[in-house]
Amino acid sequence: MDRIIAVANQKGGVGKTTTAINLAACLAAKGKKILAIDMDPQGNMTSGLGVEKDQVEATVYDLIIGSAEIEEVLCKDVLENLDVLPANINLSAAEIEIMGVENKEYILRGEVDKIKENYDFVIIDCPPSLNMLTINAMTTADSVLVPIQCEYYALEGLSQLIHTIELVQDRLNDKLRMEGVVFTMYDARTNLSLQVVENVKDNLEQTIYKTIIPRNIRLAEAPSYGMPINLYDPKSTGAESYMLLADEVIHKGEEE
Ligand code: ADP
Ligand code: MG
Repeated sequence: MDRIIAVANQKGGVGKTTTAINLAACLAAKGKKILAIDMDPQGNMTSGLGVEKDQVEATVYDLIIGSAEIEEVLCKDVLENLDVLPANINLSAAEIEIMGVENKEYILRGEVDKIKENYDFVIIDCPPSLNMLTINAMTTADSVLVPIQCEYYALEGLSQLIHTIELVQDRLNDKLRMEGVVFTMYDARTNLSLQVVENVKDNLEQTIYKTIIPRNIRLAEAPSYGMPINLYDPKSTGAESYMLLADEVIHKGEEE
């Protein structure tokens, strides 16, 4: 086991799910054993990896409320080297159902602990809020990867997110650290994207990945075919950049 990475940012539409899907798939394509966990009730990571989210027998919801064993929820060999813990809209009720449950912050961790040694990396896609599902992802994770969209409001909400990560670190999971920031949807034709990158670099002490994910229509198309970008269009700029990001993530682990 190398590490468990939660992909989080409470802003919606910044590229969390796209990054979680394609980082997971590219790591798998490089021979790493991967567990992809969908913690978003929208289930877009699940369907984007080709799992029929409404046809599965059990989901992360059942895992969180304790009505299924992790082996029952696991979709094995969805891709070569890649298993999925799927989610769908049912998961939106989980937070209320676990209200008052003792140690509700650690439910996912307890389950993932049972199987994590079968994997090199676990990649968790978080919902667009700082709720109990995100907290469960952060107590399970070793690090948090934060996608930042190259747009005018890029830094909005980031201090809140970093504060949340620090709170979790202090109170719930002292091994948690910042994996780094990944810029997404970079548009080389506009000055804005470049300015955002420069501005964030100047204002943020966090690790920033060298790989910048370009805006690439193929990345937006791939999920409707249930395929990650490296299978949908391996020659696209999107595929090339997520492959490079996967290399950086692997390399980062080796440095430490
Ligand atoms: P989040 O999970 O943070 O809400 P998504 O990954 O779902 O964000 O991305 C939001 C939208 O932007 C989706 O329609 C997705 O297909 C699209 N998208 C994400 N990254 C890119 C990119 N690099 N190029 C083009 N479209 C992208
Ligand atoms: Mg998402």
